Amino acid sequence: MTKNKDLLTKISTLSTDSEFFSPIPKGYKKGKTRYCFVMGTVMSGLGKGIFSSCLAKLLMDKGLTVAPIKLEGYLNVDSGTLNPFRHGEVFVLDDGMECDMDLGTYERMLNIDLSQSNFTTSGQIFSEVLHKERHGDYLGRDVQMIPHVTGEVKLKLRRLAMESKADVVFVEIGGTVGDLENAYYIEAMRELAYEEGPGSSCFVALTYILEPPTLGEQKSKAAQLGIKQLMQMGIQPDIIACRATNPVDAKAREKISIYSNVPVERVISMHDSASIYMIPSMLRENSMDFEVIRLLKIEDRMNLRHERKAWGKWCDFTDKIGTAKRDVTIGITGKYTSLRDSYASIINALEHAGIALGCHVNIDWIDTSDLTDDTVAESLAKADGIIVPGGFGTRGTEGKIACIKYAREHNLPYLGLCLGFQMAVIEFARHVCGLTEANSTEIVADCPEPVIDILPEQKKIEGLGGNMRLGGRDIQIKPQTQTWHLFGQVESVRMRFRHRYEVDPKYIDTLEAAGMVFSGKAPDHPIMQILELPDHPFFLGTQAHPCLTSRPLAPHPMFVGLTAAAQQRRYPKEALPDPIKIASKV
Ligand code: GLN
Repeated sequence: MTKNKDLLTKISTLSTDSEFFSPIPKGYKKGKTRYCFVMGTVMSGLGKGIFSSCLAKLLMDKGLTVAPIKLEGYLNVDSGTLNPFRHGEVFVLDDGMECDMDLGTYERMLNIDLSQSNFTTSGQIFSEVLHKERHGDYLGRDVQMIPHVTGEVKLKLRRLAMESKADVVFVEIGGTVGDLENAYYIEAMRELAYEEGPGSSCFVALTYILEPPTLGEQKSKAAQLGIKQLMQMGIQPDIIACRATNPVDAKAREKISIYSNVPVERVISMHDSASIYMIPSMLRENSMDFEVIRLLKIEDRMNLRHERKAWGKWCDFTDKIGTAKRDVTIGITGKYTSLRDSYASIINALEHAGIALGCHVNIDWIDTSDLTDDTVAESLAKADGIIVPGGFGTRGTEGKIACIKYAREHNLPYLGLCLGFQMAVIEFARHVCGLTEANSTEIVADCPEPVIDILPEQKKIEGLGGNMRLGGRDIQIKPQTQTWHLFGQVESVRMRFRHRYEVDPKYIDTLEAAGMVFSGKAPDHPIMQILELPDHPFFLGTQAHPCLTSRPLAPHPMFVGLTAAAQQRRYPKEALPDPIKIASKV
């Protein structure tokens, strides 16, 4: 905002006499950071984030510093108010930014923590421009999409380049080329590439190759037209990645090459793969890493020794994919539509845990809307363990409580995440402590035993979206508990939060006297963050979202523990590792 005003110098006179306006952060050195722009044609959902993060990973392995950024076209200022069933899960960063699920893909693939500098929306860009206009920063100029809005986008990218000291900033534009709301982002990319000079930027277009079953062959016309549209906007792609179900044949690639001026060796197939973690090797086999490095003229910044080590470690992980000897089924209580995207981080965390343990994890989605104590056994018949994930509102909560009761009473491994933690407290209060009317005030506002409530300090903060406890927080772990062993006997762990309601401290003594252990607490407030039942093989809940910080090379202990416990239950005759002890060791 205005505090950044003094950071700005102008590449040309900022006056009514000049058409140029391109604010540059003070101290910015042209040429230090290169830019790789990734955009999509034909349709959205092609996996631009996956492509971009995999390419960034290959460069990072070579010792280069990379910084991704996702540019979203929508007018929301962040993703906090978006419905996950429409837009995919809301991913929360350590600094509390609520953003698109693609940021999760970047964090997992690159094994780094990102921040609000790595994400922007049209809403953020426009608010900034309007703020500057009110503040008189445009010196009497009429404020326009070009150059002012595009200038704001370029400023954001250059700031990220400076802050991160990146060799390459990877810029992913959400949606597709041709979306009205993306037009000014694409124009900003074109301007930036021009201003930074030749060899500074590289443009990657993802496209889609149709395979109509009635024809039985791959058709590239839609892809050609999509790329043509990009070229009409003044952008010559350097690389074209063709998404398709099957490997894209030479004929289709050649046609695209002819129409786009892109050499055929840079028109690559990016067909479906069993695991996204196999994509880096697909790109490597096509020499995409070296193509980008050559295009950006940064060969001298590579460290090939670093790469040998990093790639070896990665291959140790990918070699295990698809080799599992055992199978478990984890039941997840979730609503039925668009499940994959709404629970992307949980699915990923289970995949990481399964690969680490050599065990394939199947997911059984359990709709709890009509589930009762009478039907619960049947609904959970296939499950070797269950997760009650985060959520808002009242739908299906009684069914979730029935699942938790069943898990507690039948030694079925349980992991409760955020809402699932709160539901576990309610279930225990009702059926073990005898507080039969226990509930959350989110579900029954005037319930007689509000074991889950909004704390007084939270109640003071008003306004939707503004009163959430958000982002990374340290959690103090109680020594000698299962949780303590699970995390490798550490004093504290850090996890990410996104919630309004909490355990009301006045019920803690009652709950603990009946056998519930609060094994993780906030260091400075009486906020309960992890619970366990010591007499159960694996019954854990957390107010946090551990799935957000599980990484392929560092699976989250809570998910490893749950999967290992499910494995033990499924294969009682095998000598399998203790779920509590193995979790911190994989
Ligand atoms: N609805 C609950 C709360 O606001 C849980 C939130 C969640 O699961 N993310 O506290």
